[in-house]
Amino acid sequence: MKNRNTKQKETILSIVNQINTFFTAEDLYNLIKKKDKNVSLATVYRFLNKFKEEGEVYSYLCDRKTVYSKEKKSHCHFICENSGQIIHFEIDNIDFLKNKIPGKITSFQLEVKGICEDCCKKD
Ligand SMILES: [Zn+2]
Ligand SMILES: [Zn+2]
Repeated sequence: MKNRNTKQKETILSIVNQINTFFTAEDLYNLIKKKDKNVSLATVYRFLNKFKEEGEVYSYLCDRKTVYSKEKKSHCHFICENSGQIIHFEIDNIDFLKNKIPGKITSFQLEVKGICEDCCKKD
């Protein structure tokens, strides 16, 4: 017999596995509600923390919100110093980091600042 906790974990993890982009705890909660009405947002947070510890998901800070992903091993921002606009980009090749870091990279968050194209045009 599986206990309630194990069943909830399986439900939540199966939904997490279907998301191939960044999501917030609320996003995940809304998806879970459709399958299991007994899961609370607090439970979702609790499991997300557990998954983080177990290396199942990675978490990043995006515009003052915590976002999670199972697939994405990095979260990169290009922030315009003029308008404050955040533009997301992905880095596929991390060889340039590998030889700087004395260990194995599991995930990373990057913040690059500059002036966005729109603002450059205005000058
Ligand atoms: Zn972001
Ligand atoms: Zn700008």
